[in-house]
Amino acid sequence: MASDPDRSRPGVKQLLENAGNGSCADCGAADPEWASYTLGVFVCHSCSGLHRNIAHISKVKSLLLDPWSCSELEIPECLQRNTTFSHLEFMDSVGNAAAKARYEQLVPAFYCRPSPSDCMLLRDQWIRAKYERKEFMYVERQEPYSAGYREGFLWKRGRDNGQYLSRKFILSEREGVLKYFNKNDAREPKATMKISSLNATFQPGKMGTAHGLQITYLKDNSTRNIFVYHEDGKEMVDWFNAIRAARFHFLQVAFPGAPESELLPKLTRNYIKEGYMEKTGPKQTEGFRKRWFTMDDRRLLYFKDPLDAYARGEVFIGSQENRYSVLAGLPPNTQGSHWPFGITIATPDRKFVFACETEEDQRGWMSAFQMVVSRPMLPQDFAVEAYFKHKP
Ligand SMILES: [Zn+2]
Repeated sequence: MASDPDRSRPGVKQLLENAGNGSCADCGAADPEWASYTLGVFVCHSCSGLHRNIAHISKVKSLLLDPWSCSELEIPECLQRNTTFSHLEFMDSVGNAAAKARYEQLVPAFYCRPSPSDCMLLRDQWIRAKYERKEFMYVERQEPYSAGYREGFLWKRGRDNGQYLSRKFILSEREGVLKYFNKNDAREPKATMKISSLNATFQPGKMGTAHGLQITYLKDNSTRNIFVYHEDGKEMVDWFNAIRAARFHFLQVAFPGAPESELLPKLTRNYIKEGYMEKTGPKQTEGFRKRWFTMDDRRLLYFKDPLDAYARGEVFIGSQENRYSVLAGLPPNTQGSHWPFGITIATPDRKFVFACETEEDQRGWMSAFQMVVSRPMLPQDFAVEAYFKHKP
């Protein structure tokens, strides 16, 4: 290499040390290794793949594998037109902090900003909303989810046959409900779900569809599930954020003066853990049955099928201060489990015994249960506990 015109200039990797560039501009994952040289942002590998979906406005390159400066790439075009060098210069002039100030200036408080563990759909639509539709630069573009009312059709899974049928849904912040209708001209909704107990969580894996959304609500204090999707990813994510907006409004009314930071984590929640275990009945002599378990906040629900509308049962798990504990292993003389790795949950009233297929499953469930029992109970948790205690 005869001359090195770049020697005095910083390399692209040095720009990662600038404030804001140390984590992905879109999902917050640490140590981004890719960059969009048309938007000027540093992103993780996974989000760089989503930027390829909007290639007309975002062009990505690897920080490690692709050439960024002329000194690394001595091609005539580059030397003449200085093109690759200008990418570097552009990255230096923008960066994640400046891009955030521009593209995220009007993100509504309730809007879901995805984390690295969120599903592809949420991250894809977040990236499109920011850079392609520029929803957070113009507030009028947020109408689909911030209006307080939303009406439309979703594919809903039938409770008995598992077939998805088109159903009309209406979300009304004013009425405090989400409802759906079996017939388009029906007067009475098939179900009315109160926003106060509504939760929505994307479940692409469990439902086997990339846009699959699980909606739960409480009826007579028991959890009910419905499973919906829309072919159009934007529609589905708009529904999700409309539900979050309605929940935010509800919580602001229910807890006046509560800081936003306290309300926002309550808009929607992902499950702590899901998967199969075996369980036995209260006497531990009934034989073990394989069930699908969902740890949702402090409710451990079990289902025959992961997509059942109703749980077969629910167990409340309180905190260690209130005499709940988790132990690895089965009580002595337990018989009939097919799976070898036991877990015993003791509540003030009884013991629940579960068996996992692998040691890894057991470890995963143990740490999920430990996390729940080590968390102090909140005032509203005591009300739920009391309900479970007096349940017929
Ligand atoms: Zn990312």
